Amino acid sequence: MTSAHDLTDLVQLSRTLGEPARRLAILAEGNTSQRVAKDQLAVKATGRSLRHASAADFVVVSLRRLSDIVDDLGAGDADVARYFDDIEAKQGLRPSVEALLHVVCVVDAGATTVAHTHPESVNALLCSDRAEVLAGPPIFPDQVVVIGRRALLVPYSDPGVVLAREVRARLAAHAPEWGMPRVIYLQNHGLVVLGSSAGEALQLTEMADKVSRVVAATLALGNVVPMTEESAERIDTRDDEQIRRAALARATLQQPGDD
Ligand SMILES: [Zn+2]
Repeated sequence: MTSAHDLTDLVQLSRTLGEPARRLAILAEGNTSQRVAKDQLAVKATGRSLRHASAADFVVVSLRRLSDIVDDLGAGDADVARYFDDIEAKQGLRPSVEALLHVVCVVDAGATTVAHTHPESVNALLCSDRAEVLAGPPIFPDQVVVIGRRALLVPYSDPGVVLAREVRARLAAHAPEWGMPRVIYLQNHGLVVLGSSAGEALQLTEMADKVSRVVAATLALGNVVPMTEESAERIDTRDDEQIRRAALARATLQQPGDD
């Protein structure tokens, strides 16, 4: 349906995220999106799996139209459903209910590739009373290089327009002190990464997965002892780490089976 756009990287990202060994998403869990024009977002259709994704599994939605629905407090799920009916009639597929979340990440935070998964490692923490560790000071330097100094933690919300509104409000509150986050953790739900490319979206997902696994192992041993804010700021701003970050951003997507 979206053959007018080159979705090669988005499809490969989706398939990589869906690899069973990564334990990031099963069945039709998770969704990915890419901005393909000023007002157009290609987003995974509902019910389609990441693992077996192809270009035919994506639909194109209007960023402005869905952003307006999120802004309009008089609008609700019925308005979204009406727009999705329209998309389905024209393109043959219905967008994921989480398309609104992707729209907010693109419109508000400037992401161009967004990936949402339900990683076992991340969700174990997000379903515990220690979820706030994920939004606290970083615990190791590579976390700072890839994710930055602060991720955003959002309390559980009803998926759809309510969640999109909550994320929009929390992004606005987070930005003045920390800038726009590259990672959003949704309590009792999952992970959202805000990339400038498919490769960066994969790196962010891999690092969030690693952070969660390290935190879980740490909590089995004792308390989490994060880096100091000064150390994290130094890593975040020193020149050689900026060079490493730029090199990472240029890295292409791994081929399945690379690791
Ligand atoms: Zn989800």
